[in-house]
Amino acid sequence: MSNFKIIAIDGPSGSGKSTIAKKIAERYGYLYVDTGAMYRAVTYEILKKNVINDIEKMISLVADLDVELKFENGLTRVFVNREEVTDAIRSSRVTERVSEVSAISEIREKLVDLQRGYANQQGLVLEGRDITTVVFPNADLKIFLTASIDERASRRLLELLAKEEDVDFEFVKKSLIERDRKDSTREISPLKKAGDAIEVDTTNLSIEGVVDKISLLIESNIENLKPS
Ligand code: C5P
Repeated sequence: MSNFKIIAIDGPSGSGKSTIAKKIAERYGYLYVDTGAMYRAVTYEILKKNVINDIEKMISLVADLDVELKFENGLTRVFVNREEVTDAIRSSRVTERVSEVSAISEIREKLVDLQRGYANQQGLVLEGRDITTVVFPNADLKIFLTASIDERASRRLLELLAKEEDVDFEFVKKSLIERDRKDSTREISPLKKAGDAIEVDTTNLSIEGVVDKISLLIESNIENLKPS
């Protein structure tokens, strides 16, 4: 068992963050917090209330929103004002608009507060876009997960085909590039590698290979493993 309390993972879409974070949390008995699910949940509600083109209305809607993650047997269930939206937040409609919503500072402030509220837990694995840079810059271990764009698009394509979505490789690749562009060029908390994060390229690694690599970082003397 490691002494780490907070493990923060950032990276672009499709780099494997949620799969890996979930497995690391399982291995060490930590709580897994999917921060992207929170941005998706508020986007779902904004679309449902049809206020996506009105910044003021989006901000006031989200200010009063009750966003909740419930953790059950290793699974995360997502609720907005007590309505379960666990599956609905994965729709293409939400995916297409979430980066616009997550660029709004008032909305980020609310969700970042909720995310920091988990810090009193025994051990945490959080993943997102700004966890290593903004939410928990003093995390005990900071990982930046990457993979080539073709690899990320292939993984996402398989997930979408499994859900019987009518998409092809080029479409998926284009939308990943576009979402990464928005997430890494926004003014507030853009996706970027923290100076002291350890980059793990997952392109040619199996899921277990990545989990083992990160476990090694957790279990070793981290100071010796940090890039100089
Ligand atoms: O990780 P996932 O693809 O579910 O995240 C959905 C979106 O939520 C991202 O594209 C990004 O716009 C936003 N996000 C964010 N900060 C985080 C996590 C996600 O801006 N910490």
